[in-house]
Amino acid sequence: MKLAYIAWLPALLASAICRADEPASPNAGALGLQHAGHSQVVIRSGSQPSIQGNTDTFTGTVRVDPLFPAGAPASFSGGAVHFTEGARSAWHTHPAGQYLIVTNGVGWTQQWGGPVVEIRSGDVVWCPPGVKHWHGATPTTAMSHIALTGTLNGKNVDWMEKVSEEQYRK
Ligand code: MN
Repeated sequence: MKLAYIAWLPALLASAICRADEPASPNAGALGLQHAGHSQVVIRSGSQPSIQGNTDTFTGTVRVDPLFPAGAPASFSGGAVHFTEGARSAWHTHPAGQYLIVTNGVGWTQQWGGPVVEIRSGDVVWCPPGVKHWHGATPTTAMSHIALTGTLNGKNVDWMEKVSEEQYRK
């Protein structure tokens, strides 16, 4: 399967994540999800394989654990992302925005033209639609966050160039 798409991790969660413009994810059935139904759904820990971060859109070692796909009427997906020291996303934007909830460690995030901002476990970051940014670990500490990423017209991320060593270290 081609790893080509998940919001902030389009390249990561690949086809494991459904598209919001579809009535139901192709994967929804496989996951036992019934967003349109009236019953609660439990997605069991360990029921979805971890995905390695795509080298086209991430630098360093990144692991993504899919949590849930986008569905109707809630058009956002969730994933847990783990960055080892020095690892970070490429520059990107989200057409419908993204929340990051830092769950472990210390990391960095930066908006285009702005300073690098340290983020720690418990911090919540909102990335507005269309704002170019990146997020990842620091050079010496790993960082994990949960990403809740909105989907608009079937897309949740637009990838750009990688964060250079010069940009990352400054
Ligand atoms: Mn992002």
